[in-house]
Amino acid sequence: MAKAVLVYGTGISGCGAADALAKQGRKVLLYNDKPAQVDEELLALLAKQGGGLFCGNGAALLPEVEQIVLSPGIPLSNPLTDTAAASGIEVISEVEAAYRGYKGHIIGITGTNGKTTTTTLIGEMLETLPVQTAVGGNIGQALSKEVENLNADAWLAAELSSFQLEGVRDFRPDVAVILNLTPDHLDRHHTMEAYGEAKRNIFKNQTSEDIAVLNYDDPTVRSWGELAPSRVCWFSRREQLNQGVYLNGGNFMIAWDRQLYTVCHKKDLRVFGGHNEENVLAVIAACFFAGVAVEDMKKVLLDFKGVEHRLEYVMTVGGVPYYNDSKATNPDSTIKALEAFDGHIILLAGGHDKMTELEPMMKLVQAKTDVLILLGEAKERFYEAAVAAGVQDIRKVATMDEAVQLAHAIASTPQVVLLSPACSSYDMFKNFPARGCYFKELVAALPK
Ligand code: ADP
Repeated sequence: MAKAVLVYGTGISGCGAADALAKQGRKVLLYNDKPAQVDEELLALLAKQGGGLFCGNGAALLPEVEQIVLSPGIPLSNPLTDTAAASGIEVISEVEAAYRGYKGHIIGITGTNGKTTTTTLIGEMLETLPVQTAVGGNIGQALSKEVENLNADAWLAAELSSFQLEGVRDFRPDVAVILNLTPDHLDRHHTMEAYGEAKRNIFKNQTSEDIAVLNYDDPTVRSWGELAPSRVCWFSRREQLNQGVYLNGGNFMIAWDRQLYTVCHKKDLRVFGGHNEENVLAVIAACFFAGVAVEDMKKVLLDFKGVEHRLEYVMTVGGVPYYNDSKATNPDSTIKALEAFDGHIILLAGGHDKMTELEPMMKLVQAKTDVLILLGEAKERFYEAAVAAGVQDIRKVATMDEAVQLAHAIASTPQVVLLSPACSSYDMFKNFPARGCYFKELVAALPK
């Protein structure tokens, strides 16, 4: 009898992969080390192929397993997968499993920050092509579900976290985008080198027929150019490239194979900040190789308002604009948010502390903010770092309600109020969207 595939993890990715694999006729053991519940319909489907949901002792299942598919939340190396690998069972990520069942084209997108924004925008540009298109990976439903009904002409934009890239084997995107690399998730990858290696998996199987879109302005990513087995298309916000995608007098330019194209001017964009210019450069490069027409790129760019919770304009109260950047869960993305404004910022920061280096961010806080309002678990460590950087006006509050009330009481034109926490949200909220939505509710309820 055919052996089973064990799908490890019962979240969106795990359930999606289990569903897709069972529909391909595979016997799936959907597994969680803790008690878990899944949809009845999925259970019925798994049962039809002789599989089901299993919780607790995973090792007992291994004798009938030939392959393990990991959800992104599960580290590649853990007691169960280590035992499995030692007895010759293949361990792959959900992305790899999805890839093996898919025949179409892929743009893979990775980096520490900007993945969702870039992937979403690429997805919108791909829609101008006369073929099937989809967006998946770290966004929305599992990649395995996204690719289910796509044919060989399709183009897929896949957002890939380093966790998803850890467990790929054959994965080979037509276009691999690496946006940037800064310290984040060191709790799981332990060293920057291991984190970088996971990211570089995005291009390791590429050949000279494929393209790697790499950030020329990021020193780490630039140093990887020579490691890419594919053709490199650089993008740069700071330098005029002989070949690649760059800014010239504010215009987004493509120079490739001795052809030169102007896409649009940066003042035509509705998103703002230097980091978004970088994202747009990467999008233009990736979509150029997918065959998107320059005029179509321009149309989509002029229309794109950004993604919720990423430097999102909320509303103006008493002449003061409020911005929700709840997705800024590390200092680097908060730095980008601070850089996007001229100054006079009232910054709301803090949350679950990821123990990241704070000095560079606090230097910028010192230069750009009028008031720093701190909340959450990270409050005390942030406070000390802010004092050390010479930040003058620092306030500590207990709740988001208090933070917004205080900001409102202090703020006047030309100040802006910015929630950009540099922390994850788990100390006070379910996730960053919940934090951002709550912030927006509080802002909407302020006296006008
Ligand atoms: P990701 O999916 O990689 O987390 P998002 O597009 O969701 O990226 O953006 C996450 C955060 O990082 C937001 O706060 C956003 O303002 C900031 N950001 C977006 N693009 C970049 C970039 N290219 N470099 C640095 N920070 C960025």
